[in-house]
Amino acid sequence: MGSDMVGSDRIDEEWGGGLGGMVLGKAAKALERDICDRCLGRLFARSGYGLTNEERGRSVRIVLALVAEALDDRIAPRSHQLMGKLPVHSTTVGVLDEPSDAPEDDPEWNTIGGGTPSPPWEEPSVLGEGCWLCHDLFDHVDELSELVKEKASGIEFSSFLIGCRVDPGTSSRENMLWKDVDPTSAEPLKEEVNREVGKILDNLWSDREVEKGNPEVTFILDPLFKQVDVQIRPLFIGGRYRKLVRGIPQTRWPCHTCRGKGCPRCDGKGSLYETSVEQLIGPTIMEAAKGKNYKLHGMGREDVDVLTLGSGRPFILEISSPGVRGLDLDDLFSKIDDRSGGKVEVLEPRWTDRKEIPDLKSRDVKKRYFARVVFSEKVDEEKLKYGISLLAEGPIKQRTPERVSHRRADLVRERSLHEVDARLLDDGRGEVTVLADGGLYIKELLHGDEGRTQPSLASILDLKIEVESLTVLDVLDRKE
Ligand SMILES: [Zn+2]
Ligand SMILES: [Zn+2]
Repeated sequence: MGSDMVGSDRIDEEWGGGLGGMVLGKAAKALERDICDRCLGRLFARSGYGLTNEERGRSVRIVLALVAEALDDRIAPRSHQLMGKLPVHSTTVGVLDEPSDAPEDDPEWNTIGGGTPSPPWEEPSVLGEGCWLCHDLFDHVDELSELVKEKASGIEFSSFLIGCRVDPGTSSRENMLWKDVDPTSAEPLKEEVNREVGKILDNLWSDREVEKGNPEVTFILDPLFKQVDVQIRPLFIGGRYRKLVRGIPQTRWPCHTCRGKGCPRCDGKGSLYETSVEQLIGPTIMEAAKGKNYKLHGMGREDVDVLTLGSGRPFILEISSPGVRGLDLDDLFSKIDDRSGGKVEVLEPRWTDRKEIPDLKSRDVKKRYFARVVFSEKVDEEKLKYGISLLAEGPIKQRTPERVSHRRADLVRERSLHEVDARLLDDGRGEVTVLADGGLYIKELLHGDEGRTQPSLASILDLKIEVESLTVLDVLDRKE
């Protein structure tokens, strides 16, 4: 086509004017490339209620052919060329199929399949498939559904969604077409792929729901390369744990030297501790769920050497890619207790979701602690009780402790104590119980952290304090 091309503002005039002319003009523009009825119909997808894109495309093509014939005398030369293209795709426009007058042995004519002569507009595109845009990928939706079925076997789910990743080539051809045709109601190719494959599976899986919001399983199709990726929604299990022995971190603590790969320093274990609360809880549930991985999210954490007793600390266990979703949580929680050999106990199993994690991680709830301390010099009980009561009077200004400064911003935070109690043991050691705001470092509250916590029990008593042991007695996260 040369410089005599008709501008797009005149395209409706050329095709009889008005809205009809506009639609036909756009269709004619689209058909400058050899596209199938579906791809043509998709350009007008939001008009013509109740039609499939294929029906829509075929209808537009028929009307275009009829109008072109009627306008034969007046039509621009370009449209004459178009006419040659109109009765295309004998497979999709059977009604318009005319006997070809092409000579059987003319080498100018391409032959597809069993020697049937085909007009030049049916020339296969570069990749050897019919439609310039979709390469006839809709002929393969059954195959794609089969692939999804294969991928789905062995996964337990009740809701699903079909997604689609269109290859860059197809997507740039679609952009090109849209740019030229300027459609006002087009639907992207991938939406039609999703819908067509989704329809087949929806019929097949009558006991499963198609869910847009948060499906249990999402199948991502790559139609051209015939690949299907599966994304399985993780499981989130809530509960509370009690840590009954000291020397266990909350989560796996990878070795700094090898970053978890295993090296001489960590004895090849990859972590600095034999186990963790996470490792005592996670595997039992992960195995039952046939998951890929697990992760423990805790409401705060306790130091390695600190116990957590009472009603325990809330946590959420995340299991990625579970093959099984129906779990007996009560049964699994008691298995965890048994297998941990008295190291942890898990309570109050429940199902939850990802949305709860930020809240769990950010909530600073009050906690009750019990500490046993050693004084650098003799203290009498009266003075100890008085000292601890002074601590409860004003706010505690606590600068981020040295020992956590590598992972926490260096700030001074103000926190309060709500209940305090203390007593002196016969051997001169002290026992202290406090109910404190979340985020208050209790060891530092007692020994003072070289003056970084003000006031501290040590500064009030004017001596040195060593915290022998610390225990979380309760995490008060519930509405009181
Ligand atoms: Zn197509
Ligand atoms: Zn290591």
